[in-house]
Amino acid sequence: MNVISTRGADAVPLAEAIAKGQAPDGGLYMPQTIVTQNAPWGDTLVERATNAMLPFFKGDALEPHLHDIVAESLSFDAPVRQLNDDTALLELFWGPTAAFKDFGARFLASCLTRLFEPTQQHTVLVATSGDTGAAVAAAFHKKPGVRVAVLYPDGRVSPRQAHQLGAFGDNIATYRVAGTFDDCQRMVKAAFSDTELSERHGLVSANSISLGRLLPQMSYYVNAALTARDQGQPPPNFIIPTGNLGNAFACLMARESGLPIGKIALACNANRVLPDFLTSGDYQPRDSVATLANAMDVGAPSNLERLRHLFAEPATVVRADSVSDDEIRATIQATFQQTGEIVCPHTACGLTVREQLRAAGDTDKWVVAATAHAAKFAEVVEPLVGQQIPVPAALQELLDRPAHATAMAPSLDALAAALDG
Ligand SMILES: *Cc1c(COP(=O)(O)O)cnc(C)c1O
Repeated sequence: MNVISTRGADAVPLAEAIAKGQAPDGGLYMPQTIVTQNAPWGDTLVERATNAMLPFFKGDALEPHLHDIVAESLSFDAPVRQLNDDTALLELFWGPTAAFKDFGARFLASCLTRLFEPTQQHTVLVATSGDTGAAVAAAFHKKPGVRVAVLYPDGRVSPRQAHQLGAFGDNIATYRVAGTFDDCQRMVKAAFSDTELSERHGLVSANSISLGRLLPQMSYYVNAALTARDQGQPPPNFIIPTGNLGNAFACLMARESGLPIGKIALACNANRVLPDFLTSGDYQPRDSVATLANAMDVGAPSNLERLRHLFAEPATVVRADSVSDDEIRATIQATFQQTGEIVCPHTACGLTVREQLRAAGDTDKWVVAATAHAAKFAEVVEPLVGQQIPVPAALQELLDRPAHATAMAPSLDALAAALDG
């Protein structure tokens, strides 16, 4: 299938859009159509993910590889675990870096390594609010012909996230930028707009705007919806902790393509651009504020452009609520006391919204996307639950390595110098 830009540039093959990341007119690539699915789905996450993405890859250079790409990149589970009678968690943190970003980053890396010219050097450039950078670094670590430059906002990621980001070495360079995530994102955008710089380094995008990250994020919603259907349950309603709207947009796409998915609600932290937009219709990007759910500290959610492109009236398809740091803390404590479950601050935003819905009289069952493992945010979560959080093996392996990140000023010049250096 060809893909189009939200700003109207000529349609291009999906493989080209995945290789480029962003459309040449500054817009975001979108599938030309979202095909309604009625195929036999298969029983496993890999089969279902392949079938869900197949219509988008029809006729594309990557189509013959799709099954292999999915099998090698989405090689861990996304189980739904019941918290109580009417609330479940969709656990998205069983990949190598313990956050849902592993699904998109690994799929994108598997696509890109098949698209790269073997003779050419490539630089994957990625801005991260905490989790993306590690997922992308892990996905490309030690892959030949490619280096990765990761930019993260210094002091605005958790200590374990920072350690993880700097722990790869080899073909991964990590930069701690004296600024916010939005500064990092601006620098990366500016680098891609600089044609000369971009060609000199073979720059490749791995940010959440890439369709190569968005499409595979449909997988776990497709899988959860089909599993619910097979068990004779009604279409699940999802609450999705949201920053750049990538994860949630994939869920919206899964529902548009005919999957049995009920309501979709977004849980934002104190950065309330999305809730305000959906209530007022007025889009007011602003500087992000630092919160406990740092991977969602976004003041200008990039995928909003896709939301507005696909839906004439976004407020009719999705709702969004904002959660304060105090509410995050209270929810982490209450969840632990009531269920024994230890959740990360992002997941806690989702669970807070879940309880707000209940308090407002909603009687539906909800599945909350658990976007990261709590152990990544131990310094926040452990004092609240009064005990140590067991660390998943893959995360522990990274934490046991030494880490290094180079300081960087928040400017394109500084980034260009580092890439040239
Ligand atoms: C990135 C991230 C989010 C936000 O996802 P978006 O796709 O940007 O909305 C939420 N939680 C965690 C743990 C993340 O890493």
